[in-house]
Amino acid sequence: EVRLDRVSRDFGALNALRDVSLSIRRGEFIALLGPSGCGKSTTLNCIAGLLPVTGGAIWLDKNRVDTLRPEERGFGMVFQNYALFPHLNVRQNIGFGLKMRGRPKAEIDRKVDEALSLVRLQGQENKLPGQLSGGQQQRVAIARAIVIEPPLVLMDEPLSNLDAKLRLEMRAEIRRIHNELGATTIYVTHDQDEALSLADRIVVLRDGVVRQVGSPKELYEAPAHFDVADFMGFRN
Ligand code: ATP
Ligand code: MG
Repeated sequence: EVRLDRVSRDFGALNALRDVSLSIRRGEFIALLGPSGCGKSTTLNCIAGLLPVTGGAIWLDKNRVDTLRPEERGFGMVFQNYALFPHLNVRQNIGFGLKMRGRPKAEIDRKVDEALSLVRLQGQENKLPGQLSGGQQQRVAIARAIVIEPPLVLMDEPLSNLDAKLRLEMRAEIRRIHNELGATTIYVTHDQDEALSLADRIVVLRDGVVRQVGSPKELYEAPAHFDVADFMGFRN
């Protein structure tokens, strides 16, 4: 239902993405995996509309979306640095997108309550982001992304600012939330373990090019390139 058709993005002379094609089914959890600088964030930002593509097209079902503004695409975004509004409390942060869309207060309250319970933050709704732990802040960011019921959730290294223990805990939480919600998710990471344990399918990027797409099992059993095997840690 989400399709990238030969998407390219240049920065001057640099081809950050070259002819990236990808089909993602409804409800799928996709990990975008690759080393630093391979184009993961660029891909995500192009899908979100934060960065225009320089070639190709992006489709959501039958609609071409790469020509739309980010707010018209309406995808949920979760960033590495949470990007919460520091002066708004948890409830206001989560409800922000719905308020912007002019939803009635009763509906906002109900949906925020549902999101709070999904990310298990009941009782924290009046706190400011600065009064929360890193893991709790990331839960707020996730709740804010999903409360608008987006057709697609985009996460860019959401756990990389957390310590190792919290990272494992939140990894399980992200998969649980995905399973309960069934939202299509694209999850950017440079962590092979994270990709292998979270994703239905993994897209391996290298130098702006898709090197391989497959389930964790497929990648493990038949890495298409030595560098995929190497990067995944399957060879020593
Ligand atoms: P990381 O794991 O470090 O976040 P990444 O895979 O997300 O890396 P991108 O941020 O997508 O990598 O960058 C891909 C390439 O494009 C890199 O070579 C980067 O230097 C370049 N790049 C990204 N954004 C810009 C920009 N705004 N202007 C110029 N070059 C850019
Ligand atoms: Mg990045």
